[in-house]
Amino acid sequence: VMSDIVSYSVRHSRTPLVEQRQDFAEIEFAIDRALGIGEFRLAYQPQVELATGQLAGIEVLVRWDDPTRGQVSPLEFVTAAEATGQIHALGLWIIEEACNQGQRWRDTLLGAAALSVNVSPVQLKAPDFAANVRAILGRTGFPPDRLVVELTESALVQRGDPGFETLWELHQAGVRIAIDDFGTGYSCLAYLRDLPVSFLKIDQSFVRDLPHNESAAVIARTIVAMGRGLGLSVVAEGVETEAQADFLKGIWCNKAQGYFYAKPLNSAQLAGWAELGASP
Ligand code: C2E
Ligand code: MG
Ligand code: MG
Ligand code: MG
Repeated sequence: VMSDIVSYSVRHSRTPLVEQRQDFAEIEFAIDRALGIGEFRLAYQPQVELATGQLAGIEVLVRWDDPTRGQVSPLEFVTAAEATGQIHALGLWIIEEACNQGQRWRDTLLGAAALSVNVSPVQLKAPDFAANVRAILGRTGFPPDRLVVELTESALVQRGDPGFETLWELHQAGVRIAIDDFGTGYSCLAYLRDLPVSFLKIDQSFVRDLPHNESAAVIARTIVAMGRGLGLSVVAEGVETEAQADFLKGIWCNKAQGYFYAKPLNSAQLAGWAELGASP
């Protein structure tokens, strides 16, 4: 583990190694403490059905307000937790907390919507990941078909890789799978054929330049056409303007999420947002 951490540090920063080693030891300690005292919390960002404006889903995003560091970006502490192995405990806590919240919302604001959780490639490699998810679903009572696991292309696996079985096990349990940040990784379309994927999420870097940038428009159109052709539901991420939303609706993209609809909210704010009606 230490060598992973050190090689991570070397790749990601210019601070001298000794200092970095100390930084990582510190962050490892801080993450443990935060897990112990319940300092992590979840934010919820709604996804809407473009055709109707109805709530279609909710993405769960982890947040950490560290007393000394302040708001730490998940990109930062998730990466650190991957290097130390703490992502396994943190990741399962996130899923259990999300399912508990989802269960409380089930007969009210959730309606037919699903709850999406982000899962790191490291979590997927744990041989007991699918069994742990099934156990959480059993304990919380949250229906498996309301849970979506979001994976980036870097987590995607080929037949024979350790994560391949995990994804099929999740699918057999009824959990659905989304490809996050689609188009930004090393896209290998074979996984769309070989894995039980239900959702494609168009990365926000493609959405940002819509509708006027011709390349962005072609890429968005192509992803939607391919996704829909394969029977998948396509979700646009990072929608910030009405013009982007209108364009995506016009090319028959299924769902959208982004600041145009709502920022990631706490549970009370999300309930308030849903009460006002999903469309802005
Ligand atoms: P992601 O899963 O692709 O999440 C989307 C990110 O875009 C979130 O950043 C969200 O707050 C942000 N976002 C949403 N709408 C807009 C918009 O309209 N404009 C812009 N500019 N940004 C928008 P966040 O929460 O900082 O998360 C960053 C990344 O960290 C996530 O990317 C995901 O890869 C990772 N992450 C977040 N929560 C978790 C988690 O619970 N577990 C794991 N393993 N990774 C997580
Ligand atoms: Mg995501
Ligand atoms: Mg994304
Ligand atoms: Mg991302």
